[in-house]
Amino acid sequence: MSGVYTETLNILIDEFGNLPGVGPKTAERLAFYVLKAESDEALGLARAIENVKTRIKRCEICFNFCEEDVCSICSDTRRERSVICVVEQPKDIISLEKTGACRWVYHVLGGHIAPLEGVEAGDLTIDELVKRVGGGEVKEIVMATNPNMAGDGTSLYIISLLRSSGVKITRLARGIPSGSTIEYASGKILTDAITGRQELV
Ligand SMILES: [Zn+2]
Repeated sequence: MSGVYTETLNILIDEFGNLPGVGPKTAERLAFYVLKAESDEALGLARAIENVKTRIKRCEICFNFCEEDVCSICSDTRRERSVICVVEQPKDIISLEKTGACRWVYHVLGGHIAPLEGVEAGDLTIDELVKRVGGGEVKEIVMATNPNMAGDGTSLYIISLLRSSGVKITRLARGIPSGSTIEYASGKILTDAITGRQELV
């Protein structure tokens, strides 16, 4: 097949083929769609990809995605800065915020501890979280890691580091089914989990 298309088109097919869930046939279809599309549309897609990679960075405080140095949640003065909700990924913030039940700020770990996948505690933003808690303003940490083995293990490790700090540590109530992820929990289940959070320490 590679001999049939031009080199430039082959590169685009290969790039689409590298995307998650895109097989060779779909990659070919997408590449031909771009080839036939109006210039504005195709170049708009290219620019959107470029902008995502050049403009979006991590919030200096909570490591959420943002385009400024500090994200819109951290710079919102109406938020309760004394309560930090700890999540694995920025996508979890979106799910929790959709419930409208959160007035707290966040801390994005950047994943969970998974030694078999080569992810150690030092690869996450745990040190930064401990520093934030040490700042003295924080009264409560809400653990909202995913309710599965990796998320629970990460949560327990963080709790062991924060136990001596004296701050209250809670976790979301287990309306969220064990083994699932925050990202895919429904709004109602998340709202119950937020309002019914339980004290851990
Ligand atoms: Zn932030």
